[in-house]
Parts: sequence; structure tokens; C-alpha cells
Amino acid sequence: MPELAPTLAVIGGGQLARMMAQPAIALGLPLRLLAEAPGVSAAQVIPDHRVGDHRDLATLREVTAGCPVVTFDHEHVPTEHLHALEADGIAVRPGPDALVHAQDKGVMRERLAALGVDCPRNAIVTGPADVEAFGLPCVLKTTRGGYDGKGVWFVEDTAGWAEACAEAFAVAEETGVRILAEERVDFRRELSALVVRAPSGQAAAYPVVASTQRDGICHEVVAPAPDLDPDLATHAQQVALRIAGELGVTGVLAVELFETTDGRVLVNELAMRPHNTGHWTQDGAVTSQFENHLRAVMDLPLGSPAPRARWTVMVNILGGPDPEVGRLWDGYPHAMARDPQLRVHLYGKEPRPGRKVGHVNAYGEDLEDCLERARHAAAWFRGDLGNESE
Ligand code: ADP
Repeated sequence: MPELAPTLAVIGGGQLARMMAQPAIALGLPLRLLAEAPGVSAAQVIPDHRVGDHRDLATLREVTAGCPVVTFDHEHVPTEHLHALEADGIAVRPGPDALVHAQDKGVMRERLAALGVDCPRNAIVTGPADVEAFGLPCVLKTTRGGYDGKGVWFVEDTAGWAEACAEAFAVAEETGVRILAEERVDFRRELSALVVRAPSGQAAAYPVVASTQRDGICHEVVAPAPDLDPDLATHAQQVALRIAGELGVTGVLAVELFETTDGRVLVNELAMRPHNTGHWTQDGAVTSQFENHLRAVMDLPLGSPAPRARWTVMVNILGGPDPEVGRLWDGYPHAMARDPQLRVHLYGKEPRPGRKVGHVNAYGEDLEDCLERARHAAAWFRGDLGNESE
């Protein structure tokens, strides 16, 4: 049979790869997946998958054989392997020279400083004396390997600060990563500017959204960010487009930002893949971040990032403390009957405490109504109805 379309290789079997599968079906784009274990989220829905280690070059070569392009569900593939794949003639999107800025917060900070992009004051520190000289309170971060608040320490200006920072340096010692100190930003809220860029240079910017984090994990996203100064919103989009262009990003770039109490935006971090703060686009935008990521990495013209409704609210479904409560399937009858417009996305993951297992999107003309509907549905799925308005 003649090849109908090129096959896109995807490394990593989490929910982001799973959610790429849906637009890939619609686009007639075959995916081939490298999954970290049998039965993980994306392996359940992408039949053409292998199980293996993304840190092993031979495995990466096997999975990408015959694929013109490779993209990612996560940012953990070693840079030298990505260079090797490029040398084999495979288009790595995003490429290793861009991706390193999402992998290493130290490299990212240096580059953004060189570009003149506003960031929290920061410095690489090598011990408690450096931290004290940097100034307290501050935030310490491992330059590599952190996610969902892991690898982040808030060091307070109180007795006991040295112990708190000793923990960070112990992790650094153990894993060989560097420690970055950042000023503790007094922010009004966290924003995210999501853009997508194709190798041709075409780019599109989604509306800037507000995200609520708890313990370093994204809980809720409101699109667009309510009451955001239009000039600041445009500035944030321009910053994100500029970073995407300067770093040569292909695919989605999410720029996580702090909106400071004095009306500026500072870059917190970069992600070069579809991002939790873009899940609202699945139901709230003309073209979802997942479809636009596929279009971008395949160098196709991008779809419109325009919103479909005035407001879209995304609330994550996290596993609750009691594994017996909140069996996700049991949430459907109630959530669906209460709100026929609700959109539910479950990832096929066991609901362990604090683990992201799905999300809901509610869109409409009234923000309070969207918030209430999305929070209520997520609380129902979590199995803790009664606390939903917290
Ligand atoms: P991760 O890689 O785990 O996503 P982040 O760098 O995004 O780590 O930090 C996690 C959370 O910690 C952020 O969403 C924010 O709420 C808080 N945080 C991070 N850096 C700072 C800072 N410099 N000042 C204040 N809060 C911060």
C-alpha cells in the first residue's frame, strides 16, 4: 500500500501524547510512540508503539526509523541523543538547541537575560553562603529535572533557612545539577502566554491565560486572563513570540509568567510542548494546542488560535487521598447530567493522590458560571464534593 502520510514519532507516553492522538486521527497523521511502560496513558490509544527507555539512543533510533519528524511529550531526552537523531537526518522538533532552554533553568535564565527579557533577579549558587549573599527570602531551584513544584524550595528569612537550603544542595550533590537562586516575586497572579511556531517561521499566539497553582501544581486556568490590561496582554504575547523566534522553537512554546503587583510580567519558565495551561484550547479555541503542535512540527500552515467563547475555564482532576473514592468513571452520570455543555478529558491513569488524571473544560459567556460548573465537575470526579468551592 502506498504511504498515505508521513509518520510522526512521539517520545513519551503521558497524557500530552495521548491528547495529540485525537487531532492526529482527524488529520490522517499516523503516530508512532515510544512509551516508558506498557499501558501508559498514550500507549492505550496509539497502537503503533514500543516500550523502551528514552535515554537509550538505540531505542530512539528504532522508534524513529522511517519517520521524517520526531516530537515529544516531555523534555527529558538527552541533548546528545537529539543531535544524533538530527545527524541521522530526522527533523527533531523542537530541536536540541531550543529544547535545552526548557530542560535547564540556568541556561534559560542566561539566554533570556542576553535577550533583555524581564525575569526575576537570579544567580547560580554553590552553597549556603552564596544564598545568604543573594538575599532572603528567595526561591531555590534545581536547574534540571524539576516539575510540578518538585525541585523548588522556598527559603524564608527566618531561623532554619540554612537547613532548608541544605536540602536543595543535597539534591544537587546527589544528582549533579546546579542550583539557581531567584528573588521571591511578589506576584498578583500567574499568567501563561502560549504560542506555536512552525519551521517556516509562521507563528500564532493564543490569548494570555491566568493559572492557579497549588503546591507547584496547576489547578485551574481561566482564558482569557480576567481584567488583564490589554497592553500587558499584547506585551506578554510579543515576549512569547520573540522567545519562540530567537530560540528557534518549533511546536508549542508555553511561557509561564508572573504578573507583578506593580503591573509588569516576568518570565518564570518555558515549556516546549503542549502545556497544561493550554488544555482549555481543546474546547475553547478554534484550533487546539495539540492540533497546532502537530501542524507546526509537520510544517503545515497553523490553525486559528481564536477563542470560540468569551470565557473558558479548565480545572484539573487530581487523584484524591482515598483511592476508593472518586473512581473516575463513576463521575460521569452526575457531571454529564448536571451540565450537558461540560467537556471532560480523562487520561486513562490510576488516580493516585495529587496525580493529574484528567481535566474538564467549561465555556460560555459568564465567567462565574463557567468557574462554578468546571469546579463542581472536577470536585465530583475527585470524589470530594462539598469542598468544591474552596
Ligand atoms: P516547576 O518546574 O516545578 O514547574 P516552577 O519554577 O514553575 O517549577 O515553580 C513552581 C511554582 O513555584 C510556580 O508556579 C510559582 O507558584 C512558584 N515560584 C517559582 N518561582 C518563584 C519565584 N521566583 N517567586 C515566587 N514564586 C515562585
